[in-house]
Amino acid sequence: MQKKFIIAGNWKMHKTVEESIDFVKTLNNKIAENPDYARNNRVEILVFPPFTSLHALKGISGKTQIGSQNIFYEEKGAFTAEISPLMLKNLATYTLIGHSERRHIFGEADININKKIKTALKHSFTPLLCIGETLEEREAGNTFTKIKAQIDQDLEGLSSEAINKMVVAYEPVWAIGTGKTATPEQAQEVHAYIRELLEKKTAAFQDIPLLYGGSVKPENASDILSQKDINGALIGGASLQVEPFFAIISSSFKIVDQ
Ligand code: PEP
Repeated sequence: MQKKFIIAGNWKMHKTVEESIDFVKTLNNKIAENPDYARNNRVEILVFPPFTSLHALKGISGKTQIGSQNIFYEEKGAFTAEISPLMLKNLATYTLIGHSERRHIFGEADININKKIKTALKHSFTPLLCIGETLEEREAGNTFTKIKAQIDQDLEGLSSEAINKMVVAYEPVWAIGTGKTATPEQAQEVHAYIRELLEKKTAAFQDIPLLYGGSVKPENASDILSQKDINGALIGGASLQVEPFFAIISSSFKIVDQ
């Protein structure tokens, strides 16, 4: 089976509206000039800007898909500072759910992550679910137990048709923003395990894109993306400037062309 990739940038709490517009315009020019992109349609490029930039990117996003960094599970009400699926309609196609910063800094629990996935799907957004173990859990030999618990709780009650519409990112918490990347073998091992867990939930488990995230940079992207069960990357730091982000995209062009 030929590989297909999703290369996604999570900008977190970075970039003003003007900076977001500049980035997307420059990125789109680079994509347009690149013969590898024109030749294959197997790399999807996606960014998660802050909410304040979403409207400004409407109409100029070109080949770049736009996602929201969060979504609330209710449509409206007394939920100060939350963002409703109705407000994101026509501004985003993807939504990031359960990012480790949401889980660890803001105390987001699996039960709410599960509700957010259901709401996102109801409103036709593609949920990009993030899961991953902490350093403590890895060192205690509990990586697989943690991954299984997150998959089971976050996907609770979802039909196989619903699961088939999702993307999952494995992001070991100890590798996010730390400069420590999982080795390609460590990443592949967990991705293969996630694939196995998904096999119990849907016949289309091979088609669910599994992204790796955690200090992906131009220097390590190729080795990571070449792994069998890795279908792309979720990138924080290296997605804030066009050059490194595009260098990672270019690595994926080369791998899909092999
Ligand atoms: C992330 O925010 O999802 C992430 C993987 O960040 P970084 O690439 O900076 O580790």
